[in-house]
Amino acid sequence: MLKPGGDVDSWCGKCKRILAHTIEAMVGDKPARVHCNTCNAQHSYKPHEPGGAPRQVRQREAGDGLGPPPPKARASRYQVLLKGKDMALAKNYSTKDSYALGDVLQHPSFGFGVATAVKDGTKIEVLFENGPKVLVHGR
Ligand SMILES: [Zn+2]
Repeated sequence: MLKPGGDVDSWCGKCKRILAHTIEAMVGDKPARVHCNTCNAQHSYKPHEPGGAPRQVRQREAGDGLGPPPPKARASRYQVLLKGKDMALAKNYSTKDSYALGDVLQHPSFGFGVATAVKDGTKIEVLFENGPKVLVHGR
């Protein structure tokens, strides 16, 4: 426990080495002023030899060093359906077109979807990222 009057190892500029010093003043929980127990010189607390000794590498504050968020543990049905589909082949959704089971289409509002069921001649069920929708087609 560091406190005024206590001992701390500090660099002494006169002795040119790390020596036991007596703490004269603290700032927060760190010694601010110390005096050398060997030569009695008063100076500010220097935990390391200036310029020479490598500084102790402190653990860096976690800033932007965090990696990307972990992937979701389980793939949703949507992701499973779209896996392996070629998005470049996605058809722009149009009520005039006809779609078959498994077709990938792109809807202006819902994004990419996969046809999961053909209801009848005019309706298909399409699974989008936000859930299934029933769309008309083949008009
Ligand atoms: Zn000294």
